[in-house]
Amino acid sequence: MRNRRAAFAATATAVTLALALTACGQNSEGGSEEDKGGPEGATIGIAMPTKSSERWIADGDNVVKELESKGYKTKLVFGEDDPDQQVSQIENMITQGVDALIVAAIDNKSLNNVMQQAKDADIPVVSYDRLILGTENVDYYASFDNEKVGQLQGTYIVEQLGLKDGSKKGPFNIELFAGSNDDNNTRYFFNGAMSVLQPFIDKKQLVVKSGQAELNQVTTLRWDGGTAQKRMDDILTSAYRSDRVDAVLSPYDGISIGILSALKSDGYGSKDKPLPVVTGQDAEVASVKSIISGQQSMTVFKDLRELAKVASNMVDALLNDKKPETNDTKSYDNGAKVVPAYLLEPVAVDKDNYKKALVDSGYIKESDLN
Ligand code: BGC
Repeated sequence: MRNRRAAFAATATAVTLALALTACGQNSEGGSEEDKGGPEGATIGIAMPTKSSERWIADGDNVVKELESKGYKTKLVFGEDDPDQQVSQIENMITQGVDALIVAAIDNKSLNNVMQQAKDADIPVVSYDRLILGTENVDYYASFDNEKVGQLQGTYIVEQLGLKDGSKKGPFNIELFAGSNDDNNTRYFFNGAMSVLQPFIDKKQLVVKSGQAELNQVTTLRWDGGTAQKRMDDILTSAYRSDRVDAVLSPYDGISIGILSALKSDGYGSKDKPLPVVTGQDAEVASVKSIISGQQSMTVFKDLRELAKVASNMVDALLNDKKPETNDTKSYDNGAKVVPAYLLEPVAVDKDNYKKALVDSGYIKESDLN
């Protein structure tokens, strides 16, 4: 038995199941207790990083829905992008006696003490989307193939500029943006994109005119769009007096919107001065609208409904003393151990396939895009 809670939960489930079976196997809702799966009365604590981006609100809703459909109770908290607040929220949930935790970290290194508290209280932890670093006390990781996200962004840029098929040689000017330096995903996205872009930078077919091409020069604290807008403003003023920027690597839709604002203020978006290729991530409604209207070029769609299922199944397995399903046991070393992971596939979306990928799949309502 994995831990005391799981032992208790499994016993409780077995007793309930036995009773349910003698009562003809039906509960009041007409399904069997076994179908519901969740150990009777177990509560799962869910810590999301912020409500400032629609993806995390959707994540919270989706995870609650998945867990409730398995018969669990849930406590959902959002950390307002403040690492200290997230730590105390998780501490509170531990004190309140949650049976498992699902955590999307704000600052991946600030959670070590609180993860130890979870361990001491026998509470299993699933790291959600963003890996928690520097602690053994993370049981599983549910995420997307984060390096692939960056590769999709980089590939889109070289394709759109005609470098990939060799139809154009360049040189083209590019600027690079990365996510928050305290988010473990940031380097995976950036390295994935640079694995595609760097060979063209080396051949001088792509030129970073600002000279800012190292990860520590291009991060955006807390993924803030306003911070990115300011940096793009500064770059346009200092490095593009007489030149044009042809592409901007942006890791996230909120950052892309900031970058596009800076570009438009500088006169981009006209026939004579077209907007550069601008990437993104998350398929947020504002960015999909921007794509449809020909401003942002693409986004990377990560189906959060699937991520919620993966994380909820992991918790359900842990509390039922089963081994969660994983598909990657090598890539995510958090500095204390390699955390077994289930990674989902991201999809590149632009104006040609947004309907099929986002609307037909039911991810975004067509009416929300009007
Ligand atoms: C997530 C991205 C998101 C970013 C900003 C990352 O950790 O993986 O999907 O765009 O955080 O919220």
